[in-house]
Amino acid sequence: MNDSNTSHIGTTEGDIPKPIPKQAREISAFFSLVIDETMEKLPSTLTSTGIRCFRKRCFGIISSAIDLDKNEVYWKCSECVNSGTINLSSSKK
Ligand SMILES: [Zn+2]
Repeated sequence: MNDSNTSHIGTTEGDIPKPIPKQAREISAFFSLVIDETMEKLPSTLTSTGIRCFRKRCFGIISSAIDLDKNEVYWKCSECVNSGTINLSSSKK
């Protein structure tokens, strides 16, 4: 075996899919944690999840709330402006 069979991809460099950046994987792991915590308590107002903010050098704790009408989880950091909405229905249309 040798590596010579990789030479043919030299001209199609732009077509090679890039691996998912590490940070993106951390963020999706963060989202699943937030969803897990939120589904357990189903808070209708912002409630601490105990999950640390994923921003570097931020030691805030994430609070979350669920909107059952919209099927959305809203989350917010206690220390920085980090916040967002996770739509739970997007995966089951
Ligand atoms: Zn934060």
